[in-house]
Amino acid sequence: MIRGRGARVWDADGNEYVDWVCAWGPLVAGHAEPSVIRAIVDTAPHGTGFGAPHPAEIEIAERIRDSFPSIEKLRLVTSGTEATMTAIRIARAATNRARIVKFEGCYHGHSDGLLVRAGSGAATFGVPDSAGVPEAISGLTSSIPFNDLAALRASLAADPAPAAVIVEPLPANMGVVPPAPGYLAALVEACHARGTLVIFDEVISGLRVARGGAQEYFGVPADLTCLGKIIGGGLPVGAVGGRAELLDLLAPLGPVYQAGTLSGNPVACSAGATLLDLLTPEAYRELERKGAALEEGLRRALRDTGTRAAIQRVGSLLTVFFGIDRAWDFADARSADTAAFGRFFRAMHERGVNLPPSQFEAWFASLAHGEQEIAQTVAAAREVLASGIAR
Ligand SMILES: *Cc1c(COP(=O)(O)O)cnc(C)c1O
Repeated sequence: MIRGRGARVWDADGNEYVDWVCAWGPLVAGHAEPSVIRAIVDTAPHGTGFGAPHPAEIEIAERIRDSFPSIEKLRLVTSGTEATMTAIRIARAATNRARIVKFEGCYHGHSDGLLVRAGSGAATFGVPDSAGVPEAISGLTSSIPFNDLAALRASLAADPAPAAVIVEPLPANMGVVPPAPGYLAALVEACHARGTLVIFDEVISGLRVARGGAQEYFGVPADLTCLGKIIGGGLPVGAVGGRAELLDLLAPLGPVYQAGTLSGNPVACSAGATLLDLLTPEAYRELERKGAALEEGLRRALRDTGTRAAIQRVGSLLTVFFGIDRAWDFADARSADTAAFGRFFRAMHERGVNLPPSQFEAWFASLAHGEQEIAQTVAAAREVLASGIAR
């Protein structure tokens, strides 16, 4: 790709696409949103990093804290990977335990201990968990099915007790797989009964499904929250936040070391703060309307062409799972017809629609996606599905 503007991208061969990837989530207002670009251009001439606190860092931190009642304090890092890595280090120090629990198909960045049965590209490419990761490290990670309380309770009860359970409260890296009603609240309760901390990885869902992320959307707060993607406005940023007593474990106040040369740099923080200012209550209603319109159009196209598929959507995140009726966990998602997805993806690409190139990813709608982009996408899908290639 060589250019992006709003909901569209252009490749090096001069082809134009409606873009449902949106850089995998950060671009909730679309490509090259003018106010965000202006913030970048206005900030950069004054210096791109000081290795010291600066006003833009405080501005983004205050916006995040005001959006998430469970975040009293936060540390800015440079990526989502660092946010989850740091959250786990804090949880291990707070509990003096080593084992962690994650869910099959959830993705938490590419640090050693979190690649066990991970989603996203690791699922798409089917890479082994063990390549380059010593068993001494991966052995500290238990990976269990999502949406299965019995599996969670069994893993919590096993010895040694886990320091933390890390979860995407709205999994989107095995495709969109929403939690069953009551599941997240029961998860938190079961963890706390065992003295285990709950880490919500909201790198995708944070500021995406609601200003306060999935924890606002589903009404269940976490002990520690990881953010990334949207909070950088399209530039590299991450954050880990939570209760003050947990964040105070980080150096220099506490003994848990963390640092990052360019973490919270002024350009990324200005871009992020500017993007967050666009995310008003009306913006979330608009994202919901756009997601609903896309879902409705696709649903009709599937029905009219006799194509069996599950559409799973929360707000502006959506996945079409071919050949199945419902995905509650990674085993369900993996039972989808990935060959049919591949044929659908290529045919859509030929018709100028850029979808995430995997069955195990979410489509990202943005504020820049208008009726025209939705209509163009649905028309292309209807044409492709009518040919029967996804049946
Ligand atoms: C993208 C993502 C990460 C990793 O973030 P990077 O900035 O790519 O390191 C972690 N967790 C979730 C849920 C993500 O979607």
